[in-house]
Amino acid sequence: MVLQQLGGSISRALQQMSNATIIDEKVLNECLNEITRALLQSDVQFKLVRDMQTNIKKIVNLDDLAAGHNKRRIIQQAVFNELCKILDPGKPSFTLKKGKTSVVMFVGLQGSGKTTTCTKYAFHHQKKGWKPALVCADTFRAGAFDQLKQNATKAKIPFYGSYMESDPMKIAVEGVERFKKENCDLIIVDTSGRHKQETALFEEMRQVSEATKPDLVIFVMDSSIGQAAFDQAQAFKQSVAVGAVIITKMDGHAKGGGALSAVAATKSPIIFIGTGEHMDEFEVFDVKPFVSRLLGMGDLSGFMDKIQEVVPMDQQPELLQKLSEGTFTLRIMYEQFQNILKMGPIGQVFSMLPGFSSELMPKGREKDGQAKIKQLDSSNPKIMNESRMMRIARGSGRLVKEVMEMMEEYKRLAKIWSKMKGLKIPKKGDMSAL
Ligand code: GDP
Repeated sequence: MVLQQLGGSISRALQQMSNATIIDEKVLNECLNEITRALLQSDVQFKLVRDMQTNIKKIVNLDDLAAGHNKRRIIQQAVFNELCKILDPGKPSFTLKKGKTSVVMFVGLQGSGKTTTCTKYAFHHQKKGWKPALVCADTFRAGAFDQLKQNATKAKIPFYGSYMESDPMKIAVEGVERFKKENCDLIIVDTSGRHKQETALFEEMRQVSEATKPDLVIFVMDSSIGQAAFDQAQAFKQSVAVGAVIITKMDGHAKGGGALSAVAATKSPIIFIGTGEHMDEFEVFDVKPFVSRLLGMGDLSGFMDKIQEVVPMDQQPELLQKLSEGTFTLRIMYEQFQNILKMGPIGQVFSMLPGFSSELMPKGREKDGQAKIKQLDSSNPKIMNESRMMRIARGSGRLVKEVMEMMEEYKRLAKIWSKMKGLKIPKKGDMSAL
């Protein structure tokens, strides 16, 4: 079950329970069974799901809850807490310091998305003011250097590699030395992967690690293997000191929930997830805000971080003001959307808003939607009748159908935007403020 669907199923189960006139044992069981089914479909281990169900039932003792207690809220909170527990590795991730040189080594099997993720990771930090650089020490896969070079050039990130040299240690050391001299504070070393977890791969990883002395080793893994991620993560951990994990392809695979929970069970912190092939389809992974978003409860503090990251300082108060009003004209939307678009793919940005439903902005529609928003003019939608649309179409050289589609997009986004009315900024993952 793709993550969006998993979140949708769990929030629907909670919603159905909320709609019931009386919340009794039967209603609670139906809700929990629905959640269980969704988690199992996402390949979360049976024992974890069963324990979760037992724990929720223990916490939510309907007989003991006096009338007047908000049962819906207590159950929702219990589901939230238990999901967090499943995904919490119980260990904080290691943090690097901007401005101080750090070497980060990426490891993982071939095809896991390691090279793509190296650039996404560099790009993410570059946007936050770091000075990253990429070193290609993958001499095993033909074309690996070209791929890294292409990605790095697109993102304007310095890179190092060689077509001739076949010794990965030599390249890694040369690259790290060069970028240390250039005062880069985040030197990323991409190592080779193989098809299998074989001795040669682990030996090479160990040697590159010895030679470059990384501050952090990041293990990249494809989410499609589901709960089998446990064995893979363990195998890599035993060969090299894995400090963090990035799980890729969370956009397209049925077993994302299984992969996330299995990695957490190895006590390895997941720091990012990959949600597409593009550079910005990459999300910080933080357990509480993640679960909050999964349940459609948003992550306003993440949203605020994004605003602060990409919107110029002097424009932030106006944007926040407009958001908290919750209503806007096409003009406001047009002006402010230029800022919103800078924040990343629309679905990713809006999933941070409470009440966001992925059905409002399914993946795949995003690019289309963004293109349409860019065509918006400042007309007032309230008086956008048929003849007006025809006039606009004539005036702009577009088909009436296109203007109508643009209006549909406007309405869809207006609905999402309206959720921001009365915007309050909670602390990270704090459900009580929502
Ligand atoms: P490597 O062999 O581990 O270095 O893997 P690559 O970086 O070459 O990636 C393998 C394929 O996975 C490429 O086609 C990437 O575009 C794709 N890919 C990487 N990350 C993601 C992701 O998060 N989502 C999707 N859909 N594709 C991804």
